[in-house]
Amino acid sequence: MKKGLIFDIKRFAVHDGPGIRTTVFLKGCSLRCFWCQNPEGLRLKQEIMFYPERCIGCGRCVAVCPQNAHLLQGGIHIYLRDRCIECGKCAEVCYAGALQVAGKWMTVDEVMKEISLDRVFYEVSNGGVTLSGGDPVVQHEFSYELLRRCKSEGLHTAIETAANCRWEVLAKLLSVTDLVMMDIKHLDPAKHREVTGSSNELILKNAERLADKGKPLIIRVPVIPGVNDTADQIEAIARFVKSFSNLQYLELLPFHRLGESKYRALGMKYKAANLKTPPKTKMKELAEKAKRHVPVRIG
Ligand code: SF4
Ligand code: SF4
Repeated sequence: MKKGLIFDIKRFAVHDGPGIRTTVFLKGCSLRCFWCQNPEGLRLKQEIMFYPERCIGCGRCVAVCPQNAHLLQGGIHIYLRDRCIECGKCAEVCYAGALQVAGKWMTVDEVMKEISLDRVFYEVSNGGVTLSGGDPVVQHEFSYELLRRCKSEGLHTAIETAANCRWEVLAKLLSVTDLVMMDIKHLDPAKHREVTGSSNELILKNAERLADKGKPLIIRVPVIPGVNDTADQIEAIARFVKSFSNLQYLELLPFHRLGESKYRALGMKYKAANLKTPPKTKMKELAEKAKRHVPVRIG
């Protein structure tokens, strides 16, 4: 059976759709938003995350690495990422948690086994299962099978997506999805490309198609300083979605620096290091503007 590359399964999630949910995070995303809080979800491959502050200098990783990618010199641990072939052997023997593998190949049955642990909580709270990432459209065949199994077991299903994919992919997922939570970051294609690495033309077209389908839709806007944190930008997005008859509400999500340590662990540059979380007063002000057109929540 086909496997999916999963980097986290979060139980008792209360911000990823209605009720108490289990959120399955799939690796792979077509965008490269510079503020992304889940950098370990971007690439569709297993990756080594190294947290040097947790290293106790036991030397196990040095002994097992076939590439000599770990050096312990004068009490300092040097990890030579360019030598690493990501076999994961060092993480298996690192009991201190300094070395970890982001991403685990799992079958639908294996994921369902974890999901079923919380079935009673879904039932009492009208919760369910959410696929997130990364973006579940990247591993769409696996996502479809997982959602289909959830539906066949009577579970409510949701996806969190940027919808930057062929419509056929989204339409197929929609057939086994009860709620779509879709990101819109900016309406201007050039600005969108500048901050995410990709134009938004397909995304906006897919948003309109989703509106036509009538399935419950939540539009989420990450509010990023210097990108879209102006009343004009937020109001423009609210205007764009206000005719969507299936829109539940627009959710404004303030930028947070939660992913910063993960960038270091992956050897990636964190380009949002100078940004600050928008203050509550600012978020309220933006929400007031958007409320002229659509129902709004602040996440
Ligand atoms: S196995 Fe872990 S704790 Fe031991 S030296 Fe390697 S990174 Fe450090
Ligand atoms: S993942 Fe494999 S190749 Fe890479 S550092 Fe660890 S043991 Fe060496």
